[in-house]
Amino acid sequence: MVRKFFVGGNWKCNGTAEEVKKIVTVLSEAEVPSEDDVEVVVSPPFVFLPVVKGLLRPDFQVAAQNCWVRRGGAFTGEISVEMLVNLGIPWVILGHSERRSLLNESNEFVGDKVAYALSLGLKVIACVGETLQQRESGSTMAVVAAQTKAIAANVSYWDNVVMAYEPVWAIGTGKVATPAQAQEVHLELRKWFHDNVGAEVAASTRIIYGGSVNGANCKELAGQPDVDGFLVGGASLKPEFIDIIKSAT
Ligand code: PEP
Repeated sequence: MVRKFFVGGNWKCNGTAEEVKKIVTVLSEAEVPSEDDVEVVVSPPFVFLPVVKGLLRPDFQVAAQNCWVRRGGAFTGEISVEMLVNLGIPWVILGHSERRSLLNESNEFVGDKVAYALSLGLKVIACVGETLQQRESGSTMAVVAAQTKAIAANVSYWDNVVMAYEPVWAIGTGKVATPAQAQEVHLELRKWFHDNVGAEVAASTRIIYGGSVNGANCKELAGQPDVDGFLVGGASLKPEFIDIIKSAT
């Protein structure tokens, strides 16, 4: 079972129109492995999605960083799945730890968003991961399994889902998981899929790692058998994102 390497760039709440165009230019000029070997998806803030989509090289795709949980309407400040579909945005990141912790998004709420996004044809990068306290108390896999269960309950077609394991203690901290730590959780998560969803889904679903990935540490992480790519925050705004994409081959 071949799982195509996947590299996502989460630009978070960063950038001006000028900066965003500069990043897109750098990406456009880069020599990277072919689409057959790596799927690249960048996720600018909502307001820059149309311009980035318009300027981006055709072999890269875009993702929204969030979406509203159901059909749009009287939900001031929200962006609906219908709007993303209307603009031709193919992907959305859901369950990011910053939204879980800062905006109190529960496992169930994330699951509901996954359901609605998938129902209208969006593809989902679904994030899970434990805090440092949870890791230190030995509950990493229980936390990751509970988060995954709430997502899996809403998925019937797994080709449109990429799972991102992002330990909270590694996000934006410069404290990357060791290749062994990442591999251990990815393997456990794949076993969880095997036991709770099915052997085929376990073998084919991509599980990517996120948390302080950079140009220097990506190659060794990418070499782990169950690490199928990365979700990259800080480094996705820098030229080293290209090195991370290149770690696919
Ligand atoms: C992220 O925000 O998904 C992330 C992994 O951030 P960073 O790479 O900056 O740790």
